[in-house]
Amino acid sequence: MNEDTNPFESLQSQIDEAATYLDVGDDVIERLKHPERVLETNLTVELDDGSLERFTAFRSQFNGDRGPYKGGIRYHPQVSRDEVKALSGWMTYKTAIVDIPLGGGKGGIVVDPADYSVAELERLTRAFAKELRPMIGEDRDVPAPDVNTGQREMNWIKDTYETLENTTEPSVITGKALDSGGSEGRVEATGRSTVIAAREAFEYLDKDLEGATVAVQGYGNAGWIAAKLIDRMGAHVVAASDSSGGIYDPDGFDPVAAKEHKNETGSVVGYEESEEEITNEDVLTLDVDLLIPAALENAVDADLAEDVKADVISEAANGPLTPAADEVLEEKDVFVIPDILANAGGVTVSYFEWVQNRQRFYWSEERVNEELEGIIVDAFDSLVETYEEHDLDNPRTAAYVVAIQRVADAFAEGGSWP
Ligand code: GLU
Repeated sequence: MNEDTNPFESLQSQIDEAATYLDVGDDVIERLKHPERVLETNLTVELDDGSLERFTAFRSQFNGDRGPYKGGIRYHPQVSRDEVKALSGWMTYKTAIVDIPLGGGKGGIVVDPADYSVAELERLTRAFAKELRPMIGEDRDVPAPDVNTGQREMNWIKDTYETLENTTEPSVITGKALDSGGSEGRVEATGRSTVIAAREAFEYLDKDLEGATVAVQGYGNAGWIAAKLIDRMGAHVVAASDSSGGIYDPDGFDPVAAKEHKNETGSVVGYEESEEEITNEDVLTLDVDLLIPAALENAVDADLAEDVKADVISEAANGPLTPAADEVLEEKDVFVIPDILANAGGVTVSYFEWVQNRQRFYWSEERVNEELEGIIVDAFDSLVETYEEHDLDNPRTAAYVVAIQRVADAFAEGGSWP
Protein backbone atom coordinates (compact mmCIF):
# COMPACT_ATOMS: atom_id res chain seq x y z
CA MET A 1 0.00 0.00 0.00
CA ASN A 2 1.43 3.31 -1.02
CA GLU A 3 -0.08 6.20 0.88
CA ASP A 4 2.17 8.74 -0.84
CA THR A 5 0.66 8.29 -4.27
CA ASN A 6 -1.82 11.10 -4.87
CA PRO A 7 -4.82 9.58 -6.67
CA PHE A 8 -5.50 12.84 -8.53
CA GLU A 9 -1.99 12.71 -9.99
CA SER A 10 -2.60 9.05 -10.89
CA LEU A 11 -5.74 10.04 -12.80
CA GLN A 12 -3.88 12.79 -14.66
CA SER A 13 -1.04 10.49 -15.64
CA GLN A 14 -3.53 7.90 -16.92
CA ILE A 15 -5.12 10.61 -19.09
CA ASP A 16 -1.71 11.82 -20.37
CA GLU A 17 -0.74 8.27 -21.27
CA ALA A 18 -3.92 7.73 -23.30
CA ALA A 19 -3.70 11.19 -24.89
CA THR A 20 -0.59 10.16 -26.84
CA TYR A 21 -2.80 7.84 -28.90
CA LEU A 22 -5.60 10.35 -29.43
CA ASP A 23 -6.14 13.01 -32.01
CA VAL A 24 -7.44 15.44 -29.38
CA GLY A 25 -5.78 18.83 -28.86
CA ASP A 26 -3.71 19.51 -25.73
CA ASP A 27 -6.11 22.31 -24.80
CA VAL A 28 -9.04 19.89 -24.67
CA ILE A 29 -6.95 17.28 -22.82
CA GLU A 30 -6.11 19.98 -20.26
CA ARG A 31 -9.84 20.52 -19.73
CA LEU A 32 -10.36 16.79 -19.27
CA LYS A 33 -7.72 16.58 -16.51
CA HIS A 34 -9.47 18.89 -14.04
CA PRO A 35 -12.88 18.98 -12.37
CA GLU A 36 -15.28 21.69 -13.45
CA ARG A 37 -15.90 22.60 -9.81
CA VAL A 38 -15.47 21.28 -6.27
CA LEU A 39 -17.65 22.07 -3.27
CA GLU A 40 -15.83 22.02 0.06
CA THR A 41 -18.14 22.44 3.00
CA ASN A 42 -18.00 22.23 6.78
CA LEU A 43 -20.97 20.54 8.38
CA THR A 44 -21.88 21.26 11.99
CA VAL A 45 -23.68 18.32 13.48
CA GLU A 46 -25.17 17.76 16.91
CA LEU A 47 -23.94 14.59 18.60
CA ASP A 48 -26.09 12.49 20.91
CA ASP A 49 -24.52 14.09 24.00
CA GLY A 50 -25.64 17.54 22.82
CA SER A 51 -22.19 18.77 21.77
CA LEU A 52 -21.42 19.91 18.21
CA GLU A 53 -18.86 18.46 15.85
CA ARG A 54 -17.50 19.87 12.61
CA PHE A 55 -17.07 17.57 9.59
CA THR A 56 -15.42 18.45 6.28
CA ALA A 57 -17.18 17.22 3.14
CA PHE A 58 -16.62 17.54 -0.60
CA ARG A 59 -18.48 17.14 -3.88
CA SER A 60 -16.51 17.29 -7.10
CA GLN A 61 -18.33 17.76 -10.40
CA PHE A 62 -15.67 16.67 -12.83
CA ASN A 63 -17.35 16.68 -16.22
CA GLY A 64 -20.89 17.12 -17.51
CA ASP A 65 -20.29 17.03 -21.26
CA ARG A 66 -22.13 13.71 -21.68
CA GLY A 67 -24.89 14.23 -19.13
CA PRO A 68 -25.58 14.95 -15.45
CA TYR A 69 -22.62 14.46 -13.09
CA LYS A 70 -22.82 10.99 -11.57
CA GLY A 71 -20.99 9.26 -8.77
CA GLY A 72 -21.03 8.08 -5.20
CA ILE A 73 -20.49 9.61 -1.79
CA ARG A 74 -18.01 7.91 0.55
CA TYR A 75 -17.62 8.16 4.32
CA HIS A 76 -14.02 7.54 5.30
CA PRO A 77 -11.42 9.17 7.56
CA GLN A 78 -8.98 9.39 4.62
CA VAL A 79 -11.32 11.27 2.30
CA SER A 80 -9.51 14.31 0.89
CA ARG A 81 -10.12 16.95 -1.73
CA ASP A 82 -7.68 15.32 -4.15
CA GLU A 83 -9.12 11.86 -3.58
CA VAL A 84 -12.63 13.09 -4.37
CA LYS A 85 -11.34 14.93 -7.45
CA ALA A 86 -9.66 11.76 -8.70
CA LEU A 87 -12.69 9.60 -8.04
CA SER A 88 -14.91 12.09 -9.90
CA GLY A 89 -12.58 11.92 -12.90
CA TRP A 90 -12.64 8.13 -12.86
CA MET A 91 -16.46 8.35 -12.85
CA THR A 92 -16.34 10.55 -15.97
CA TYR A 93 -14.34 7.98 -17.91
CA LYS A 94 -16.33 5.11 -16.41
CA THR A 95 -19.68 6.40 -17.67
CA ALA A 96 -17.98 7.09 -21.02
CA ILE A 97 -16.42 3.63 -21.51
CA VAL A 98 -19.78 1.95 -20.83
CA ASP A 99 -21.45 4.64 -22.97
CA ILE A 100 -24.26 5.71 -20.67
CA PRO A 101 -25.46 9.32 -20.98
CA LEU A 102 -23.96 10.63 -17.74
CA GLY A 103 -20.96 12.65 -16.64
CA GLY A 104 -18.74 12.16 -13.61
CA GLY A 105 -18.85 13.38 -10.02
CA LYS A 106 -17.94 12.18 -6.54
CA GLY A 107 -18.42 13.23 -2.95
CA GLY A 108 -17.18 12.31 0.46
CA ILE A 109 -17.26 13.15 4.13
CA VAL A 110 -14.14 12.88 6.30
CA VAL A 111 -15.56 10.57 8.94
CA ASP A 112 -15.22 7.07 10.29
CA PRO A 113 -18.88 6.05 10.51
CA ALA A 114 -18.04 3.27 12.98
CA ASP A 115 -17.47 5.97 15.62
CA TYR A 116 -21.00 7.40 15.43
CA SER A 117 -24.53 6.31 16.27
CA VAL A 118 -27.18 5.83 13.59
CA ALA A 119 -28.94 9.02 14.73
CA GLU A 120 -25.68 10.98 14.45
CA LEU A 121 -25.03 9.56 10.99
CA GLU A 122 -28.54 10.51 9.94
CA ARG A 123 -28.03 14.12 11.08
CA LEU A 124 -24.64 14.21 9.34
CA THR A 125 -26.09 12.82 6.10
CA ARG A 126 -29.03 15.22 6.13
CA ALA A 127 -26.66 18.15 6.83
CA PHE A 128 -24.63 17.17 3.76
CA ALA A 129 -27.80 16.72 1.68
CA LYS A 130 -28.87 20.25 2.63
CA GLU A 131 -25.51 21.60 1.41
CA LEU A 132 -25.70 19.54 -1.77
CA ARG A 133 -29.28 20.53 -2.56
CA PRO A 134 -28.56 23.50 -4.86
CA MET A 135 -26.07 21.53 -6.95
CA ILE A 136 -27.81 18.16 -7.30
CA GLY A 137 -30.99 17.13 -9.13
CA GLU A 138 -32.02 14.49 -11.65
CA ASP A 139 -30.71 16.57 -14.56
CA ARG A 140 -27.80 18.15 -12.69
CA ASP A 141 -25.88 15.80 -10.48
CA VAL A 142 -27.01 12.41 -9.22
CA PRO A 143 -25.12 10.96 -6.22
CA ALA A 144 -25.00 7.28 -5.22
CA PRO A 145 -23.40 4.97 -2.63
CA ASP A 146 -19.67 4.40 -2.33
CA VAL A 147 -17.33 3.18 0.44
CA ASN A 148 -19.24 2.96 3.77
CA THR A 149 -22.53 4.29 2.41
CA GLY A 150 -25.53 2.36 1.13
CA GLN A 151 -29.28 2.33 0.81
CA ARG A 152 -29.87 3.88 4.24
CA GLU A 153 -27.83 7.03 3.46
CA MET A 154 -29.32 7.30 -0.04
CA ASN A 155 -32.86 7.13 1.37
CA TRP A 156 -32.02 9.95 3.82
CA ILE A 157 -30.56 12.13 1.06
CA LYS A 158 -33.59 11.53 -1.16
CA ASP A 159 -35.96 12.38 1.68
CA THR A 160 -34.06 15.54 2.66
CA TYR A 161 -33.93 16.75 -0.94
CA GLU A 162 -37.59 16.01 -1.67
CA THR A 163 -38.71 17.65 1.58
CA LEU A 164 -36.71 20.82 0.94
CA GLU A 165 -37.79 20.97 -2.70
CA ASN A 166 -41.40 20.07 -1.89
CA THR A 167 -41.50 17.48 -4.66
CA THR A 168 -41.03 13.81 -5.41
CA GLU A 169 -37.85 13.23 -7.39
CA PRO A 170 -36.44 9.78 -6.62
CA SER A 171 -34.02 10.08 -9.56
CA VAL A 172 -32.04 12.73 -7.66
CA ILE A 173 -30.06 9.86 -6.17
CA THR A 174 -29.47 6.18 -6.93
CA GLY A 175 -28.68 3.13 -4.85
CA LYS A 176 -31.86 3.54 -2.82
CA ALA A 177 -33.74 0.71 -1.13
CA LEU A 178 -36.40 -0.93 -3.31
CA ASP A 179 -39.26 0.66 -1.35
CA SER A 180 -37.73 4.11 -1.82
CA GLY A 181 -37.47 3.70 -5.60
CA GLY A 182 -34.32 1.59 -5.86
CA SER A 183 -33.63 -0.85 -8.67
CA GLU A 184 -33.51 -4.60 -8.59
CA GLY A 185 -29.94 -5.77 -9.04
CA ARG A 186 -28.27 -2.52 -7.91
CA VAL A 187 -26.64 -3.97 -4.78
CA GLU A 188 -25.01 -6.79 -6.73
CA ALA A 189 -24.14 -4.74 -9.82
CA THR A 190 -20.54 -3.75 -9.02
CA GLY A 191 -19.49 -7.29 -8.17
CA ARG A 192 -21.43 -8.59 -11.17
CA SER A 193 -19.61 -6.41 -13.72
CA THR A 194 -16.27 -7.27 -12.08
CA VAL A 195 -16.85 -10.96 -12.84
CA ILE A 196 -18.47 -10.45 -16.25
CA ALA A 197 -15.37 -8.47 -17.24
CA ALA A 198 -13.11 -11.20 -15.80
CA ARG A 199 -15.03 -13.87 -17.73
CA GLU A 200 -14.62 -11.88 -20.97
CA ALA A 201 -10.90 -11.40 -20.30
CA PHE A 202 -10.37 -15.12 -19.66
CA GLU A 203 -12.16 -15.91 -22.89
CA TYR A 204 -10.11 -13.31 -24.78
CA LEU A 205 -6.88 -14.74 -23.36
CA ASP A 206 -8.04 -18.28 -24.05
CA LYS A 207 -7.93 -19.21 -20.39
CA ASP A 208 -10.34 -21.41 -18.51
CA LEU A 209 -12.37 -19.77 -15.76
CA GLU A 210 -13.72 -23.15 -14.71
CA GLY A 211 -11.41 -24.29 -11.90
CA ALA A 212 -9.42 -21.03 -11.91
CA THR A 213 -8.22 -19.78 -8.51
CA VAL A 214 -9.29 -16.36 -7.26
CA ALA A 215 -8.13 -14.03 -4.46
CA VAL A 216 -10.34 -11.16 -3.33
CA GLN A 217 -8.87 -8.24 -1.38
CA GLY A 218 -11.69 -6.44 0.45
CA TYR A 219 -14.90 -8.15 1.42
CA GLY A 220 -17.36 -5.26 1.32
CA ASN A 221 -20.27 -5.10 -1.08
CA ALA A 222 -18.21 -5.23 -4.29
CA GLY A 223 -15.70 -7.86 -3.12
CA TRP A 224 -17.99 -10.37 -1.56
CA ILE A 225 -20.56 -10.29 -4.38
CA ALA A 226 -17.75 -10.76 -6.91
CA ALA A 227 -16.55 -13.75 -4.86
CA LYS A 228 -20.05 -15.25 -4.75
CA LEU A 229 -20.65 -14.83 -8.49
CA ILE A 230 -17.22 -16.05 -9.65
CA ASP A 231 -17.70 -19.16 -7.50
CA ARG A 232 -20.99 -19.77 -9.34
CA MET A 233 -19.11 -19.53 -12.63
CA GLY A 234 -16.99 -22.50 -11.55
CA ALA A 235 -13.89 -20.70 -10.26
CA HIS A 236 -12.48 -21.37 -6.77
CA VAL A 237 -12.20 -18.52 -4.31
CA VAL A 238 -9.07 -19.42 -2.34
CA ALA A 239 -8.40 -16.20 -0.45
CA ALA A 240 -10.26 -13.19 0.88
CA SER A 241 -9.45 -10.34 3.20
CA ASP A 242 -10.77 -7.25 4.92
CA SER A 243 -9.19 -4.54 7.05
CA SER A 244 -8.72 -7.02 9.93
CA GLY A 245 -6.75 -9.59 7.89
CA GLY A 246 -7.22 -12.45 5.46
CA ILE A 247 -7.95 -16.14 5.01
CA TYR A 248 -6.46 -18.65 2.63
CA ASP A 249 -7.40 -22.16 1.60
CA PRO A 250 -5.71 -23.46 -1.55
CA ASP A 251 -8.64 -25.84 -2.16
CA GLY A 252 -11.13 -23.00 -2.12
CA PHE A 253 -13.95 -22.18 0.29
CA ASP A 254 -17.58 -21.17 0.21
CA PRO A 255 -17.61 -17.37 -0.24
CA VAL A 256 -21.18 -17.07 1.08
CA ALA A 257 -20.32 -18.88 4.33
CA ALA A 258 -17.25 -16.62 4.69
CA LYS A 259 -19.54 -13.61 4.35
CA GLU A 260 -21.90 -15.02 6.98
CA HIS A 261 -18.88 -15.38 9.27
CA LYS A 262 -17.99 -11.73 8.60
CA ASN A 263 -21.56 -10.66 9.36
CA GLU A 264 -21.41 -12.45 12.69
CA THR A 265 -17.90 -11.51 13.80
CA GLY A 266 -17.07 -8.38 11.84
CA SER A 267 -14.31 -10.03 9.77
CA VAL A 268 -13.60 -12.98 7.48
CA VAL A 269 -10.65 -13.80 9.78
CA GLY A 270 -11.25 -16.99 11.70
CA TYR A 271 -13.60 -18.45 9.11
CA GLU A 272 -13.34 -22.09 10.04
CA GLU A 273 -12.79 -23.67 6.64
CA SER A 274 -9.77 -21.54 5.85
CA GLU A 275 -6.46 -23.30 6.47
CA GLU A 276 -4.33 -20.29 7.08
CA GLU A 277 -4.59 -16.75 8.28
CA ILE A 278 -2.69 -14.27 6.16
CA THR A 279 -2.49 -10.50 5.99
CA ASN A 280 -4.61 -8.24 3.84
CA GLU A 281 -1.46 -7.55 1.80
CA ASP A 282 -0.49 -11.22 1.39
CA VAL A 283 -3.76 -11.80 -0.45
CA LEU A 284 -2.51 -9.57 -3.26
CA THR A 285 0.59 -11.64 -3.99
CA LEU A 286 -0.82 -15.17 -3.87
CA ASP A 287 -0.25 -17.53 -6.76
CA VAL A 288 -3.75 -17.33 -8.24
CA ASP A 289 -5.21 -17.02 -11.73
CA LEU A 290 -7.38 -14.01 -10.94
CA LEU A 291 -6.91 -11.22 -8.43
CA ILE A 292 -9.82 -8.95 -7.49
CA PRO A 293 -8.72 -5.88 -5.52
CA ALA A 294 -11.96 -4.63 -3.95
CA ALA A 295 -10.85 -2.24 -1.21
CA LEU A 296 -9.34 1.23 -1.62
CA GLU A 297 -6.90 3.15 -3.84
CA ASN A 298 -3.17 2.38 -3.97
CA ALA A 299 -3.50 -1.19 -2.62
CA VAL A 300 -0.73 -2.30 -5.01
CA ASP A 301 2.38 -0.16 -5.47
CA ALA A 302 5.41 -0.90 -7.65
CA ASP A 303 7.17 -2.98 -4.97
CA LEU A 304 4.16 -5.14 -4.30
CA ALA A 305 3.48 -5.43 -8.03
CA GLU A 306 6.84 -7.20 -8.40
CA ASP A 307 5.41 -9.99 -6.24
CA VAL A 308 1.97 -10.23 -7.86
CA LYS A 309 1.52 -13.69 -9.37
CA ALA A 310 -1.99 -13.45 -10.81
CA ASP A 311 -2.43 -13.59 -14.61
CA VAL A 312 -5.51 -11.38 -14.65
CA ILE A 313 -6.61 -8.55 -12.36
CA SER A 314 -10.19 -7.28 -12.34
CA GLU A 315 -10.40 -4.00 -10.42
CA ALA A 316 -13.55 -3.92 -8.31
CA ALA A 317 -12.12 -0.99 -6.32
CA ASN A 318 -11.41 2.41 -7.79
CA GLY A 319 -7.72 3.10 -8.33
CA PRO A 320 -6.27 0.04 -6.54
CA LEU A 321 -3.04 0.07 -8.60
CA THR A 322 -0.64 3.01 -8.60
CA PRO A 323 0.62 4.09 -12.06
CA ALA A 324 4.05 2.70 -11.10
CA ALA A 325 2.45 -0.66 -10.23
CA ASP A 326 0.65 -0.58 -13.55
CA GLU A 327 3.97 -0.30 -15.38
CA VAL A 328 5.46 -3.24 -13.50
CA LEU A 329 2.40 -5.39 -14.21
CA GLU A 330 2.46 -4.40 -17.87
CA GLU A 331 6.04 -5.65 -18.11
CA LYS A 332 4.99 -8.87 -16.42
CA ASP A 333 2.17 -9.31 -18.96
CA VAL A 334 -0.56 -9.27 -16.35
CA PHE A 335 -3.88 -8.46 -18.01
CA VAL A 336 -5.47 -5.70 -15.92
CA ILE A 337 -9.16 -4.97 -16.48
CA PRO A 338 -9.32 -1.34 -15.39
CA ASP A 339 -11.66 -0.12 -12.67
CA ILE A 340 -13.51 2.17 -15.07
CA LEU A 341 -14.76 -0.93 -16.85
CA ALA A 342 -14.58 -3.72 -14.29
CA ASN A 343 -16.60 -1.97 -11.59
CA ALA A 344 -18.83 0.03 -13.95
CA GLY A 345 -21.78 -2.26 -13.18
CA GLY A 346 -22.62 -0.11 -10.16
CA VAL A 347 -23.09 3.08 -12.10
CA THR A 348 -24.69 1.23 -15.00
CA VAL A 349 -27.46 -0.12 -12.80
CA SER A 350 -27.64 3.32 -11.16
CA TYR A 351 -28.39 4.57 -14.66
CA PHE A 352 -31.13 1.93 -14.98
CA GLU A 353 -32.51 3.06 -11.60
CA TRP A 354 -32.55 6.69 -12.80
CA VAL A 355 -34.33 5.66 -16.02
CA GLN A 356 -36.91 3.62 -14.07
CA ASN A 357 -37.49 6.47 -11.61
CA ARG A 358 -38.04 8.93 -14.42
CA GLN A 359 -40.45 6.60 -16.18
CA ARG A 360 -42.05 5.46 -12.91
CA PHE A 361 -41.92 2.02 -14.43
CA TYR A 362 -39.87 -0.73 -12.81
CA TRP A 363 -37.95 -3.60 -14.35
CA SER A 364 -37.49 -7.20 -13.19
CA GLU A 365 -34.12 -8.30 -11.82
CA GLU A 366 -33.77 -10.50 -14.87
CA ARG A 367 -34.11 -7.55 -17.21
CA VAL A 368 -31.63 -5.46 -15.20
CA ASN A 369 -29.02 -8.22 -15.29
CA GLU A 370 -29.56 -8.86 -18.98
CA GLU A 371 -29.15 -5.19 -19.91
CA LEU A 372 -26.09 -4.95 -17.65
CA GLU A 373 -24.49 -7.99 -19.28
CA GLY A 374 -24.93 -6.43 -22.74
CA ILE A 375 -23.40 -3.11 -21.70
CA ILE A 376 -20.34 -4.63 -20.02
CA VAL A 377 -19.66 -7.05 -22.88
CA ASP A 378 -19.94 -4.21 -25.44
CA ALA A 379 -17.59 -2.05 -23.37
CA PHE A 380 -15.08 -4.90 -23.11
CA ASP A 381 -15.27 -5.40 -26.87
CA SER A 382 -14.62 -1.71 -27.52
CA LEU A 383 -11.62 -1.88 -25.16
CA VAL A 384 -10.20 -4.91 -26.99
CA GLU A 385 -10.74 -3.33 -30.39
CA THR A 386 -8.71 -0.26 -29.40
CA TYR A 387 -6.13 -2.38 -27.56
CA GLU A 388 -5.45 -4.29 -30.77
CA GLU A 389 -5.80 -1.36 -33.16
CA HIS A 390 -3.06 0.63 -31.38
CA ASP A 391 -1.11 -2.46 -30.37
CA LEU A 392 -1.24 -1.32 -26.74
CA ASP A 393 0.42 -3.11 -23.83
CA ASN A 394 -2.02 -1.94 -21.18
CA PRO A 395 -5.80 -2.45 -21.36
CA ARG A 396 -6.25 0.58 -19.10
CA THR A 397 -4.79 2.85 -21.76
CA ALA A 398 -7.21 1.33 -24.29
CA ALA A 399 -10.15 2.05 -22.00
CA TYR A 400 -9.05 5.66 -21.56
CA VAL A 401 -8.51 6.11 -25.30
CA VAL A 402 -12.12 5.05 -25.95
CA ALA A 403 -13.55 7.01 -23.02
CA ILE A 404 -11.62 10.27 -23.52
CA GLN A 405 -12.54 10.29 -27.21
CA ARG A 406 -16.24 10.05 -26.30
CA VAL A 407 -16.04 12.90 -23.80
CA ALA A 408 -13.97 15.04 -26.19
CA ASP A 409 -16.48 14.42 -29.00
CA ALA A 410 -19.39 15.48 -26.79
CA PHE A 411 -17.48 18.61 -25.79
CA ALA A 412 -16.61 19.42 -29.42
CA GLU A 413 -20.23 19.00 -30.50
CA GLY A 414 -21.45 21.29 -27.72
CA GLY A 415 -18.70 23.81 -28.28
CA SER A 416 -17.16 26.13 -25.73
CA TRP A 417 -19.28 28.98 -24.48
CA PRO A 418 -18.95 31.80 -23.52
N1 GLU B 1 -19.65 4.50 -6.24
C1 GLU B 1 -19.85 3.67 -7.39
C2 GLU B 1 -18.67 3.83 -8.34
O1 GLU B 1 -17.58 4.18 -7.95
C3 GLU B 1 -21.19 3.86 -8.04
C4 GLU B 1 -21.49 5.24 -8.54
C5 GLU B 1 -22.93 5.41 -9.02
O2 GLU B 1 -23.71 4.47 -8.99
O3 GLU B 1 -23.23 6.54 -9.44
O4 GLU B 1 -18.76 3.54 -9.50
